[in-house]
Amino acid sequence: MLGEDIRRPGYLELFETGVLAERARILDESLRCCTLCPRRCGVDRKAGQTGFCGVGAEPRVAALSIHPWEEPPLSGSRGSGTVFFSGCTLKCRFCQNYPISQLGVGRGFSVEELAAGLMKLQKKGAHNINLVTPTHQVAAFVGGLLHAVPLGLNIPIVYNSSGYERLETLALLEGIVDIYLPDIKYADPQVAAYLSAAPDYVSVNRAALVEMWRQVGHLRTDADGLARRGMIVRHLVLPEDLSGTADNLDFLVRTLGTEVWVSLMCQYFPAHEAFGNPPLHRRVTEEEYDRAFRTMTELGILHGFTQEHPDEDALC
Ligand code: SF4
Repeated sequence: MLGEDIRRPGYLELFETGVLAERARILDESLRCCTLCPRRCGVDRKAGQTGFCGVGAEPRVAALSIHPWEEPPLSGSRGSGTVFFSGCTLKCRFCQNYPISQLGVGRGFSVEELAAGLMKLQKKGAHNINLVTPTHQVAAFVGGLLHAVPLGLNIPIVYNSSGYERLETLALLEGIVDIYLPDIKYADPQVAAYLSAAPDYVSVNRAALVEMWRQVGHLRTDADGLARRGMIVRHLVLPEDLSGTADNLDFLVRTLGTEVWVSLMCQYFPAHEAFGNPPLHRRVTEEEYDRAFRTMTELGILHGFTQEHPDEDALC
């Protein structure tokens, strides 16, 4: 990465050299027997079939909006340009966006419409394009990107995902994604199986994080403190440590070093199937979040973001 120009998103060069068009073609073709994510359903999405994620070949989007509440290097002063994709490759029982991720809320877009939407976000001043839950829609997104570059898109791409990714698909995103923003959700396969229907999450997630880091490295910001390239790993603290915080943070430090950027989140609240499903039925306590924060500090993690609870009764 020595000598790299972080002011210029990687996808512009891939567009100029024809690589972006080739990646779009390969990804689009892969939908005929879809193995984009670790579910590897093998369905023909171009023929109208759907797999675990529930989305066909065309882009399906619930919202495009400016988001001011992401981590500071992403939201900056003007906000992050979020694209909320419908559907998901996980089925988290506590998903706070479950109408979008699991109930299909959203509408179909053409790739041209998606490109126009990306341009609208840029014109509104977004510092970046923030793809929320994009894993199963990367083919549609790269198709849209191919149309957006000639229109003048030139801000970084943020890949904001659950971290449940296939290495083969990530390889096709190398140079397209400027900033990876993956979750590290669980450290226990049984918990991952119960909470997200993904017993292989831990091993898949950890391999994916290593590959993302290989592609983009640690976070680099510009003179204004805005993220231009790199990775921020998000960890949502769950009640009774269902999120395996110490194990996960220890993995990050052992594998990626203490320079890894970690966003330690306490925003969990019960949603979807979490009600009546202890301990998911409550928020994280102040003590639980403090413990997670202490672990982060004790492990020597140098760059972190924490959250403050908006409620004065401060559960965390
Ligand atoms: S992207 Fe969807 S259809 Fe493709 S393998 Fe994953 S869950 Fe199945």
